[in-house]
Amino acid sequence: VTGLTRATVSTLVDELLAGGLLAEVEPARRAGAGRPAVGLRLADDGPAGLGLEVNVDYLAAVVVDLAGRERHRFDRHADQRGRRPGAVLDELAELAGLARAAGAADGLRVAGAAVAVPGLVADGVVRLAPQLGWRDVDVRPHLAALGPDLGGGLRVDNEANLAALGELHARLDAGAEPARCGFLYVSGEIGVGAGIVLSGQLHRGARGFGGELGHVTVRPDGPRCSCGARGCLEVYANQEALLRGAGLPAGDDAVGRLVAAARAGRRSARTALAEGGAALGVAAADVVNLLDVDTVVLGGVYAPLARWLAGPIERELAEHVLTAAWAPVSVEASLLGASATVLGAAGSVVRAVRDAPAVWLARSAA
Ligand SMILES: [Zn+2]
Repeated sequence: VTGLTRATVSTLVDELLAGGLLAEVEPARRAGAGRPAVGLRLADDGPAGLGLEVNVDYLAAVVVDLAGRERHRFDRHADQRGRRPGAVLDELAELAGLARAAGAADGLRVAGAAVAVPGLVADGVVRLAPQLGWRDVDVRPHLAALGPDLGGGLRVDNEANLAALGELHARLDAGAEPARCGFLYVSGEIGVGAGIVLSGQLHRGARGFGGELGHVTVRPDGPRCSCGARGCLEVYANQEALLRGAGLPAGDDAVGRLVAAARAGRRSARTALAEGGAALGVAAADVVNLLDVDTVVLGGVYAPLARWLAGPIERELAEHVLTAAWAPVSVEASLLGASATVLGAAGSVVRAVRDAPAVWLARSAA
């Protein structure tokens, strides 16, 4: 396929084996005469990605290997609102240290880290995270203790963007054609955000602040949102609105209890999901009318609730999208499930190593 000679491929493979990016597996079959073919796979003790997530009601740290498999995960569930950003980030650094040490015990070497935050990010600084009440918080100094050997560096990005990138890579790995791969990734947590992927590319907008679906207006005279405006989507469809509508308390595994209530057919749960789904559908229809995306991907807490949200979303899309009759829009749960954000963050690190292995080899030789 590449047109490279057998000798060139051998040289490259030897380099990747020596650098710990590939491992040999037993030959599955004889390749005719001469040297037997050797099977290769991505090393499961090579470079790894560290994904970190600050969210409104939890912190998470995950280590994934070169194949993108989750190997270690540390979570802490607690409301982060009202805490000092420094205290939150110090606790995140502690989880990161635990994840990293667990990876090291497996022979994994963290090649870089990405931090997902529920807010607007520019140059590593969280400009605004309305639900957390953060303004101009520089995340990097708090995580500097992760070590100067984080050669790939520390990337800070919006949670929905990292999740959308993770979803994009999962779809490409599953065989999607890059030029045709586009979707609106909707991330549901206490904040609601979106990542917009068109023709295999994440679109961040002119200043990098795009995708704030949670603050699209559903009703101009609606209740006040954490951002200060009225009637934003977030007010009607975030995790808290769904739980409140269902008459369920917040707290540990609240979403699991909502799923159970919906599955049991409890009317309050079904109604809350129908109303939240309708609000999501109204907002998503605006995006489809503007950008002609053909798929809405439900991530975060929406992923396990997709069964009940998809119908109401589809009904609103059918009503409000001009082209819906002949260009239907598909509504699907995220391939990465509820953890798409932290997996997408970790995956972005190993993806960079896989895209440019020579950079990693030069760095680890230095
Ligand atoms: Zn708002």
